[in-house]
Amino acid sequence: MIIATNRHAQVNVNLGAIKQNVKRQIDSFDKDVDVFGVVKANGYGHGMVPVAQAILQAGAKGLCVAMIDEALELRQQGILCPILVLGIQEPSLAALAAEYNISLPVGDLNWLKQASSYLKPAQQLKIHLAVDSGMGRIGFMEASQMPEIEDYLLNHQNQFEVEGLFTHFATADEADDTYFNYQVSRFNAVKKDLRLKPKYIHMTNSATSLFHHEVHGNMVRIGIGFYGLNPSSSPSAPDLALPYDLTPALSLTSELVFVKEITPKMGVSYGATYQADENQWIGTIPVGYADGWSRKMQGFKVKVGDEYCPIVGRVCMDQFMVKLSKPYPVGTQVTLISDNPNDSNSVTKVADYLDTIHYEVICGLTPRLKRVYH
Ligand code: PLP
Repeated sequence: MIIATNRHAQVNVNLGAIKQNVKRQIDSFDKDVDVFGVVKANGYGHGMVPVAQAILQAGAKGLCVAMIDEALELRQQGILCPILVLGIQEPSLAALAAEYNISLPVGDLNWLKQASSYLKPAQQLKIHLAVDSGMGRIGFMEASQMPEIEDYLLNHQNQFEVEGLFTHFATADEADDTYFNYQVSRFNAVKKDLRLKPKYIHMTNSATSLFHHEVHGNMVRIGIGFYGLNPSSSPSAPDLALPYDLTPALSLTSELVFVKEITPKMGVSYGATYQADENQWIGTIPVGYADGWSRKMQGFKVKVGDEYCPIVGRVCMDQFMVKLSKPYPVGTQVTLISDNPNDSNSVTKVADYLDTIHYEVICGLTPRLKRVYH
């Protein structure tokens, strides 16, 4: 996708805030815990490579991504740290992963057998055994499956280095910890009888780090917390309050490109669903749903200069309109998403308006929006 460098619309990313968030969370762990930053999905919309570099500069030991293509891009940009892919990859990618020293997750014996046939002589792949303790997504379901896997791996040590054993929690962000504890006990059951001695045992995402700090192995995988957002499930009224402040790092800004006065009965945007009942000033902003600014944002108030103005009419693919109280000049700054968590257009408020979570809002900002770092 083309990056619109000439358009006055941008995702602003505060790398200083990200570094501060990383340091705060690193400081909360003992020195023997290796902190990995999760930079999948274009660094949660912030831009994968600059964010990865900032996270490493702030002291993280490694990175996690969702798929091998993301890991390869990091390697191509000269990033040499340990990288763990979190999602299951085709077994045929084992050789490529080994070549670039990228660690892959494994959730069944069949995958290992297939991957083994793709590895070239003298190649060794680093793997992390995924345990499905209750997320229902990937991994070995029962402790009883492990002996067979371990026998296989002990017989194929030349091909596979078991670098990690991990699980992922489904409800670490919720106040009720019943299911969380159930998952902990299931994971512990696998860990207890393990004959293999992986370098890393890990189960911590941001919510686990923030709300269940006592539960961690010797590696943690932090995503949303590094971007300064509370992972707890209902963003504007979190189930669980942050134990310490985090600083949001992202804002989305643009400016008015066109301002006009409309007369009664004049419609605005597709379907002419909005019609003025009096003379009104309308401003146009060059951002639309092709940038990840959803059609469902109609009615939401963005900040034009110092004033919050409602979006009127349907959001188009590349533009949307707001009702202005006065004829603001073309070029007036518009803040669609504020990085101040107290503002009524913070990312959590946008997520609330869309009836979703802030993860989806930030990951959905498409590459067409340029990222500007400060
Ligand atoms: N670990 C795994 C396996 C994940 O899938 C994710 C994110 O989806 C993370 C860690 C990071 O989660 P968070 O962004 O909530 O910290």
